[in-house]
Amino acid sequence: MSSCGGGQSGCQREEEEDGADRACNVKISAVNGSCKQDDDHDDRCFKCREIAAVYNKLCPGCFRFSLYGKFKATVTSNGMISPTDKVLVALSGGPGSRVALEFVHEMQLKAKKSWDASKDQSLPVFSVGAVFIIESASHGQSEAAQKAIEEMRCHVSGLSPPEKLFHVTSIENILFGNPKNESDLSSLLETVTDATGKEDLLRYLRMKSLQKVALENGYSKLVLGSCTTTLACHVLSAAVKGQGYSLPADIQYVDSRWEIPIVLPLRDCLAGELTMLCHLDGHQIHQDYAQASPNINSLVSSFIARVQEENPSRPRTILRTGEKLRPFNFNRLFENLPHKMIPSRVRRKLRAAAEAESTPSEVLCPICGGPLAESDVINVKSTDYLLSAGHVAFSGHCCQSCRFQILPKDPPSLEKFHSLLPRTMTERVSLRKQIEDLLLSSDDEVCDGM
Ligand SMILES: [Zn+2]
Ligand SMILES: [Zn+2]
Repeated sequence: MSSCGGGQSGCQREEEEDGADRACNVKISAVNGSCKQDDDHDDRCFKCREIAAVYNKLCPGCFRFSLYGKFKATVTSNGMISPTDKVLVALSGGPGSRVALEFVHEMQLKAKKSWDASKDQSLPVFSVGAVFIIESASHGQSEAAQKAIEEMRCHVSGLSPPEKLFHVTSIENILFGNPKNESDLSSLLETVTDATGKEDLLRYLRMKSLQKVALENGYSKLVLGSCTTTLACHVLSAAVKGQGYSLPADIQYVDSRWEIPIVLPLRDCLAGELTMLCHLDGHQIHQDYAQASPNINSLVSSFIARVQEENPSRPRTILRTGEKLRPFNFNRLFENLPHKMIPSRVRRKLRAAAEAESTPSEVLCPICGGPLAESDVINVKSTDYLLSAGHVAFSGHCCQSCRFQILPKDPPSLEKFHSLLPRTMTERVSLRKQIEDLLLSSDDEVCDGM
């Protein structure tokens, strides 16, 4: 079998742990007063029938093998990574992104092995990098954050070749272009009074930062560590926030509404499985990083954690319910299967052509990137917005949810908010507004010209 590469290191670990686990089993059976049998199948891995099970009736080796299998099947069936790709894994400090990096690395190793073995070596091996976004300069300077970043840096550089770059940057640095003056980001966040809105805005800014790092460094795919559990949280919190229309865009395997398409290869794995794998592989998790004041998101995740205790498959049920909503056109890769081998420059052209013919222009919210519902689009086109001041026009382009949760209500704060937003967020609207203005003023000419 070809997939033994990662399993081998796991096997030695299994042998070491096996003794301890078996001792444990003996103790348990002694306590229960059950008769001492040589092969107590109940405690053994149900796949290999040899080693004690540690998670879901699987031993460490078989557990890792099955989780990697799930990842690999998702990547293959959705054409997520092609040989010419340059893949950027977004590390968050959590177990999902850590496992994502681990598995992408493993896949790259296997691709390299078959490249080395092949005679013509025509199939290139995709390259891999990792990125960590510091949410604020003050946070980034804390001792815990510095330690976490250093640990991640060591880990990435310690992975076997091909070499992987590790990018570390802060939102201030990459979006505001102002590493020393962190007041821009904090004053922007100060204008948002709602705790949920504040956290969401930070999340959207992080996403924009990831896109920018990927774009500036020539990456062609962005891998996130989102899993069934985190996506189930998103389904519920999006429903509470009134993001029902744009929700299906966020929970698919592929999201190519951004310049660099986002892929979620761990979408079918549970958070518990990923945490367990990190534990078994001895990876550090830097969870303390994502602390925030209580809000809708944190309430929903503690709710999910609780219902999961009763029934571990609950997150799957929730995500499956969300799947009933129809995804958008951008929830697939345009450069899929047939022209995998074509250089990315050509692929991009083909993709643009395919997009032009198949995608009705989906209008996206400039803050969260969510597609606008029809009622919002009508709003955008109303002359009230088109003829109004920059910040009012901007608010007209935002989705209902962002308007309620993030945008300040009183005009002076809204104006301040708008002036502090990074240009990447406001530029798109002013460009769209210009086009709309043009279409509005020269409607007849355009029609005549056609
Ligand atoms: Zn096993
Ligand atoms: Zn929005």
